[in-house]
Amino acid sequence: KSGFIAIIGRPNVGKSTFMNRVIGQKIAIMSDKPQTTRNKIQGVLTLPDAQMVFIDTPGIHKPKHQLGDFMVKTAINTLNEVDAILFMINADEGYGKGDQFILDRLQKVNKPVYLIVNKIDLVHPDELLPLIDQYKDKHNFKEIIPISALQGNNVNHLLDVLKEQL
Ligand code: GDP
Ligand code: MG
Repeated sequence: KSGFIAIIGRPNVGKSTFMNRVIGQKIAIMSDKPQTTRNKIQGVLTLPDAQMVFIDTPGIHKPKHQLGDFMVKTAINTLNEVDAILFMINADEGYGKGDQFILDRLQKVNKPVYLIVNKIDLVHPDELLPLIDQYKDKHNFKEIIPISALQGNNVNHLLDVLKEQL
């Protein structure tokens, strides 16, 4: 089994952190500053029974200039070529315009999209359901999976689910 998995989401939701955890080596550039990971950065996870190529896909946000517009189009083209998409959100922030922009573009992409609620270590479990309620009807998500990319909670479960998808 093998396949390509794209990770998208607003700046600072934890895309690079997730990449670094699953790949086990520092590949993506991590920073508190948004949009540091400008290029398409790939990492390969090789398991005994599966291989997954992860693509950190930054740059899907409202463009402020023409180069930005090109970057958004490039990112969307990438999404059309993968086997699964992880749409990552921040467990301690609500639905916002940045999410809306990405989900609008996802309408035209006919691929399974998983809602990944990251940073669950920062919130009380009771806060998760109301947050998920804000998102769950905004797209036809294949599954909703809460994780902590930083601490590793539920990351193996996510990888198992993805493996089944390949
Ligand atoms: P990106 O812009 O989506 O690539 O986000 P980064 O991976 O660069 O992460 C942005 C910030 O969030 C960094 O300071 C990370 O350490 C932090 N972060 C990422 N994942 C988690 C998590 O699961 N829990 C917590 N508490 N912080 C996280
Ligand atoms: Mg990043």
